[in-house]
Amino acid sequence: MFFSRDFSIFCLILVLILFFLAGAPLATPQDKDLTYAKIQEYTGEGNNPHLSKIEEIDSWITYIPPQLSHPVYKSIITSRKGASHLSKEEGGNILSTEENINYWIDRLNFLNSPIEGAKISHRDSQLPNAPRPYRNGVHHGLDYYYDYCGVDIRIGTPVKAAGEGTVIRIDHDYEELTREEREELLAIAAEDSTTPEEVLDKLRGRQIWIQHQDNIVTRYVHLHSTCPELQVGDKVKPRQYIGEIGNSGTSHGVEDSSCGAHLHFEIWIDEEFFGHNLEVEEIRAVLEEVLQ
Ligand SMILES: [Zn+2]
Repeated sequence: MFFSRDFSIFCLILVLILFFLAGAPLATPQDKDLTYAKIQEYTGEGNNPHLSKIEEIDSWITYIPPQLSHPVYKSIITSRKGASHLSKEEGGNILSTEENINYWIDRLNFLNSPIEGAKISHRDSQLPNAPRPYRNGVHHGLDYYYDYCGVDIRIGTPVKAAGEGTVIRIDHDYEELTREEREELLAIAAEDSTTPEEVLDKLRGRQIWIQHQDNIVTRYVHLHSTCPELQVGDKVKPRQYIGEIGNSGTSHGVEDSSCGAHLHFEIWIDEEFFGHNLEVEEIRAVLEEVLQ
């Protein structure tokens, strides 16, 4: 025999020790149970953490290995990081302005501007979360207009993929609304407390959606055209040409006019639009840092 029996046992023990050491930073089952019990004790239904207990919960979170996806744990992490559906008053977004900005810059930093060299508009009304009273809703994206982003924007200006990803929607066969159809949609929105999703989807006109890392989706809206070679499921590289700026779905688009051309660009994270639950200065700071 090449190895003696004693040497084989020695190797086995060594492997076991190494295996144990590699797993050592992870929590033991007792740690996990304790953490769950404590988190549940303070969160009730699991998605409304009590503010005064957050600091304590923070220290317990360090015991949980990152691969754990317990819903209570996830809801606290989500809340801590500003992406919760809950408002600040409800305990959903409890980070400071600086923490919010840094968190979102970290998470979105892989994105680039969808338009070469374009600046973020200085008008708050063109940023996400701006009110849209004409349809009882809020703005879910960022608008790039000729007068506000420092580059030439017109029908046909190229639109680029903001980051590496996969095309999950591309409206090659979009047909423009008629003026009557658009007015009907706005009338439906006027009767609702917020813009219904199916109405909003039609008002966005011709669109492309790209799925990126980390459950992030970017949407390119009101397009004039889509790159004919691209199909759903295709991979795109950062800054790859995907389509052209237009005004589809807007009041100008339905009149077949070339006015009002702009790119409406949305960033969705965990099925919430970027900017939801953030202050305008936080939104602006993140977008300027990430996209300019
Ligand atoms: Zn817009």
